[in-house]
Amino acid sequence: SAANVPQAPEDPLFGLMRAYRQDPFAKKVDLGIGAYRDDHAKPWILPVVRKADEILRSDPELNHEYLPIAGLPQYTGAAQKLILGADSPAIHDGRVATFQTISGTGAVHLGALFLAKFHPLRPAPTVYLSDPTWANHNQIFTNVGLQIAKYPYFSAQTKGLDIDGLLSTLLAAPAGSIIVLHACAHNPTGVDPTHDQWKQIATVIRERGHFPFFDCAYQGFASGDLARDAWAIRYFVSQGFETCVAQSFAKNFGLYGERAGAFHWISAPDAAATSQVTTGNIASQLAILQRSEISNPPAYGSRIASIVLNDPQLFAEWEEDLRTMSGRIAEMRLGLRQRLEARILADSSNIINGSQANWAHITSQIGMFSFTGLSESQVKVLREKWHIYMTKNGRISMAGINSHNIDYVAEAIDSVIRE
Ligand code: PMP
Repeated sequence: SAANVPQAPEDPLFGLMRAYRQDPFAKKVDLGIGAYRDDHAKPWILPVVRKADEILRSDPELNHEYLPIAGLPQYTGAAQKLILGADSPAIHDGRVATFQTISGTGAVHLGALFLAKFHPLRPAPTVYLSDPTWANHNQIFTNVGLQIAKYPYFSAQTKGLDIDGLLSTLLAAPAGSIIVLHACAHNPTGVDPTHDQWKQIATVIRERGHFPFFDCAYQGFASGDLARDAWAIRYFVSQGFETCVAQSFAKNFGLYGERAGAFHWISAPDAAATSQVTTGNIASQLAILQRSEISNPPAYGSRIASIVLNDPQLFAEWEEDLRTMSGRIAEMRLGLRQRLEARILADSSNIINGSQANWAHITSQIGMFSFTGLSESQVKVLREKWHIYMTKNGRISMAGINSHNIDYVAEAIDSVIRE
């Protein structure tokens, strides 16, 4: 009976958010949050999203009918071009199947479900996830019955990419494994491969016949440059890989709660007719999965994104908004690094754990998060003594830092690394 269902633990991130909200301390700081905040720690509605919303509301034709199963066509078409490039041969050749999804989470799920059901190998190959990764990857892939394994990613010593560990693990993985790759702004580390390292990764994936599965939650939000943040995906596609992409518009449009995302399947460039048939067959199966899971996706977020993506003037304004967000985060990275290093220089009398005297990784990491290297016990002191909240792996959301709390945060971190 259902009476035997045990209580599940609370989601750690949502538990952290709850604890923060309940803390009455005036100077408390939320560095757990995975959403952009402005310099006053407030959610930011992108000016271009406000405009699109007005356009939408003044449309006399607007109604609340269902969208098609695959989503709003103007949206899925624009989403394809955004991720693959408007002049992508894959789009031109009709090798891309795109489904609007429940944001990036829904896109990863749809891809996972499709692979679990339709991968030609039985059992389906193991899914390799970076160590560490966005925690939800583990549950999404295991929930559809796929086996998961880890590949090394982060080097605690360099606080950068463990490229050797990554490549050797992918080389040793059974041929045809599914490799989940963060397209840019790796969560939680903020560490991305260089172009040269991406090429090495592609070579190994090719050699072993692995399947690259991209998760792209931060395009444009990471660097402020949409093409730069899509480089890895476009490189793999240009190399003729069969691949798929889970795309989220939560961060780059600030449409978190509206759940606007897309799943793209890109078939390999076989003879054009073959690729098109394959792509059509895949789309037909995705439609059945989508129908049983959500029937059809939510309309509002995709309408907003579609208005912006399909209008050159609004698109340019969006790029400006992206630079506002990524620019503020870059400023906070630099400011935090400078403050920490200045404190260490100013007072060398205390012995600081060697690896914590260097903060260059704060500015070399990109995107929403920085993997600080703070230990679990230091994180605990930050929370209990300083009322600064972050996940226990030492990940901080740079968006939670602003000109009003940056000195306090630097003082607190400096204090815990001396304890
Ligand atoms: N993948 C990664 C790596 C993420 O960081 C996120 C957002 N935290 C997502 C997917 C999906 O987020 P959403 O469902 O809100 O688009």
